[in-house]
Amino acid sequence: MKITFLGTGTSQGIPIIGSNHPVCLSKNPKDKRLRVSILVEWGNYTYVVDCGPDFRYQMLRANCKRIDGILFTHEHSDHVLGLDDIRPFYFRQGDVPIYAHKRVLKEIKKRFSYFFVTENKYPGAPAVIENRIKNKPFLLHGLTVVPIKGKHAELSVFGFRFKDFAYLTDMKTVKNKEVEKLKGVKVLVVNALRITPHRSHFNLEEALQFIERVNPEKAYLTHISHLLGFHDEVQELLPDNVFLAYDELQITV
Ligand SMILES: [Zn+2]
Ligand SMILES: [Zn+2]
Repeated sequence: MKITFLGTGTSQGIPIIGSNHPVCLSKNPKDKRLRVSILVEWGNYTYVVDCGPDFRYQMLRANCKRIDGILFTHEHSDHVLGLDDIRPFYFRQGDVPIYAHKRVLKEIKKRFSYFFVTENKYPGAPAVIENRIKNKPFLLHGLTVVPIKGKHAELSVFGFRFKDFAYLTDMKTVKNKEVEKLKGVKVLVVNALRITPHRSHFNLEEALQFIERVNPEKAYLTHISHLLGFHDEVQELLPDNVFLAYDELQITV
């Protein structure tokens, strides 16, 4: 299974528009972060997790020519706003399967109501196939995907386990019975926003504590804000098996 980090930044991305913060001005390509998303590829299949405002550029940058579907962690703008840009896939492949909790599907229907028009639909509007997911495993072409439920302040969000790989973002608290589902995972990706605490995201310390709870072979941090610091400096502080993810990083699990 091949994982590509399409974006590793928090909701505003790095650099932030108009910011003079040193991290936003950094020349290191690893300090430039689009909004979070990953590409998961195995066999002939390609899935995307989340579809934020940078989706179009991310698909071009990764040279992604077809997708089999999009899984959503939750409905925040930085995770859904790129959905209109599925059009090239829709025109070539037909309706694009999406997978999300029913609350998230409802919000997508509201934001992209023109996808769902039944009469006199604008011919350029795309269409999706809605797949409602609950907090129980489901199959994608024979591969079992296990949702992991966590809390993002008051909002429930899903992370996903694909065999030995798990991807969790926008988490603040995760119950033990959900952590149990991550047992034996080799590579874990988890959000780490910044150094100081935040009401709806793990800060660095909480992310490292969560990694200890799960105890994977390796972990990568994502959904990073400029306030976490420079990539290379933060990496120096991390345990040997923990890495800051960066845009375009590819890993094989
Ligand atoms: Zn987010
Ligand atoms: Zn969020």
